Amino acid sequence: MAYPALRQPKFLKEQSTSERKQVISDVKYVILTLCNGIKLVITSDSYNSIIIEEDTYKCVLCGMSMELDNEYKELHKNSHEHKNLMTSVPYVEEFPESLMRKIDKHNGYCTICNVIVPSHAIAHHVDNNVHVNEFEKAVIRASIYKPY
Ligand SMILES: [Zn+2]
Ligand SMILES: [Zn+2]
Repeated sequence: MAYPALRQPKFLKEQSTSERKQVISDVKYVILTLCNGIKLVITSDSYNSIIIEEDTYKCVLCGMSMELDNEYKELHKNSHEHKNLMTSVPYVEEFPESLMRKIDKHNGYCTICNVIVPSHAIAHHVDNNVHVNEFEKAVIRASIYKPY
């Protein structure tokens, strides 16, 4: 069985077992480059539209809830169905930098903030301080992030 999450030996060298566990359960990030060239680093969960709702993970693209199990969550991200939706669910064109997805008739999903936003509130959301701050944080992370 292949678990990509575990294939990062360079982070695991010379660490005790307890530290190793911590690293594996650590948050994973992805680097995105917007069409205007701006680079962002956000969590892999945000990118994959997985939010925490009460005590479950919920994939807002697939509309699927799952237990707070990281391994299962990673398997879900790699599932065929999920990957299909990742490419077929469009981002809202009016706000390309916000990476807002239109998940259904009534709701969008803000990739930057990792939250569901009602469709009528999308314009307000992207102007909101919370969103602007999250966006700036993602840009700063990209400037200091060294993947290799
Ligand atoms: Zn999914
Ligand atoms: Zn947002």
